[in-house]
Amino acid sequence: MIVIDDLHVTFRSGRHVIRAVRGVSVTVEEGEVYGLVGESGSGKSTVLRALAGLDGAWDGRMEVAGERLGRRRSAQFHRRVQMVFQDPYGSLHPRHTVDRTLAEPLKIHGFDDHDGRIRRALREVGLNDSFRFRYPHQLSGGQRQRVAIARAIILEPRVLLLDEPTSALDVSVQAEILNLLMRLKRDLGLTMILVSHNLAVIAHMCDRMSVMRHGAVVERLTVDQLRGGEVREDYTRQLLLAAKGYDRAVAAELLLEG
Ligand code: ADP
Ligand code: MG
Repeated sequence: MIVIDDLHVTFRSGRHVIRAVRGVSVTVEEGEVYGLVGESGSGKSTVLRALAGLDGAWDGRMEVAGERLGRRRSAQFHRRVQMVFQDPYGSLHPRHTVDRTLAEPLKIHGFDDHDGRIRRALREVGLNDSFRFRYPHQLSGGQRQRVAIARAIILEPRVLLLDEPTSALDVSVQAEILNLLMRLKRDLGLTMILVSHNLAVIAHMCDRMSVMRHGAVVERLTVDQLRGGEVREDYTRQLLLAAKGYDRAVAAELLLEG
């Protein structure tokens, strides 16, 4: 469903050249949740943004559902491929109701039956009709992220790109959102790339993952290899320890007993 082949992304700031992504290759099967894990600054978001068409200056070959991606993306691409960001506070317009937030993509893409689609999308993310005319400040962090997910699925996409979708949330809410994403993947047959600095989160959600460092993939792993301790790189082992140490509750809930 997704092919990323030898992707390079370079940023220029003043006289500096930042090679944020250096030769990353990833293949994701239809219906798979693929993990990208690595510490802050390793280039994870840049890979997702390049795939989504949000950053211009990239080299390499990318395909989604057999369509070779160019610099500019078609309307169909933007319907098929949706992104969910880390910060549900920043990604929702503060003065738009949930209803308006969900109606906007429907309008842009010329969908009919706004009322029915909005109700269905809210139901799919576990929010009842009472949330429909609320503003973001009247929602909890988890509810806001549910709205952001509803906005992503309302166009019936095939691919969800998730950039640290639970990192801004309380630990107890993180598991709820991850479980919601797993259910949506099953029910809607979605293909996902999940980006996280937390290996426990990736292990809970994904069958396969790439470990990124300094813009490159340093190790590819299956969750079975991870659980079995078949980790080759010290860097991956450090991430594993970090996941156990700093996020003890999540690690216990998701990785160790998952
Ligand atoms: P991650 O998501 O893994 O934390 P990013 O992909 O956000 O990492 O960033 C990778 C590198 O690219 C970092 O060094 C970051 O500072 C740099 N970078 C990201 N976006 C930009 C940008 N728009 N302009 C300049 N540098 C950027
Ligand atoms: Mg990031």
